[in-house]
Amino acid sequence: MDKVIRLGGHSAPRTMVPKAASGGGIVVPIHNWLKKNGVQFRNRSQVIDLLMQDGKVTGVLINCDYNWKDGTSKKEQRIGSRGGVVVATGGWGQDKDFIKTTMPVYSLLECTSQPGATAEMLKALLKSGCLPSMLDMYQLGPWASPDEKGAGPGSFFADYAFAEGMAVNPKTGRRFMNELADRRTRADAELNVLSESIPDKINYPDVFCGEKRGRLPSCLSRQNRLPLRNTG
Ligand SMILES: Cc1cc2nc3c(=O)[nH]c(=O)nc-3n(C[C@H](O)[C@H](O)[C@H](O)COP(=O)(O)OP(=O)(O)OC[C@H]3O[C@@H](n4cnc5c(N)ncnc54)[C@H](O)[C@@H]3O)c2cc1C
Repeated sequence: MDKVIRLGGHSAPRTMVPKAASGGGIVVPIHNWLKKNGVQFRNRSQVIDLLMQDGKVTGVLINCDYNWKDGTSKKEQRIGSRGGVVVATGGWGQDKDFIKTTMPVYSLLECTSQPGATAEMLKALLKSGCLPSMLDMYQLGPWASPDEKGAGPGSFFADYAFAEGMAVNPKTGRRFMNELADRRTRADAELNVLSESIPDKINYPDVFCGEKRGRLPSCLSRQNRLPLRNTG
């Protein structure tokens, strides 16, 4: 888009927002370029294990035509590697059981990752002898709105409100954090506010700002036309 915006933890505006306002604006052009240049993609193929020979990884075992909704697949297939195997299966934010092994409190939180963000490959790597580091490090997004169960309009609003307004603890009516601190600092501060909840009344932090047309960055103008909800 036409403007570089400022997000939390940044000393200056340095965030580009693609026209689609999502990571697809970056990933889709990369995907198209790779396809054009001969990289083969196999969708609906779930890697279930690494193939090993003499202590070396020689390929992968996959479920073909895998349906992640019901966990069914047509058949298994072994794929050998001529060179090496690079695993890039991303995070496991939806794998509550695995999260519990290092950060039990985080396993209670909603997650905005896609449903397939699970730890089966990490477990296969552990089984093959890999030693990962810092499995307890997670990125928490301090901006989501609980009624949206993910990254909805509230998160766009919150980014703007953190920069132009304030966040308060509803119990005290006072600010409880630097709204422009890094994500971890803000998420920890918000979890502290949440920990003041009582049964049947969750103490969600409030974030708000004044509405002054003309000051909103142009990249947020589409969101500005949406009715602003109570971000909890
Ligand atoms: C809601 C949200 C908003 C974000 N916004 C931003 C942002 O604005 N800017 C930014 O820089 N980052 C952002 N991120 C973070 C960014 O998306 C991730 O850091 C990045 O996508 C990680 O890339 P990756 O390739 O490691 O993993 P992923 O993108 O998770 O890719 C892993 C792939 O492996 C596949 N896979 C997993 N297990 C298997 C298996 N067993 N067999 C076969 N395939 C498998 C998955 O289906 C997936 O396609 C955001 C993340 C989320 C969830």
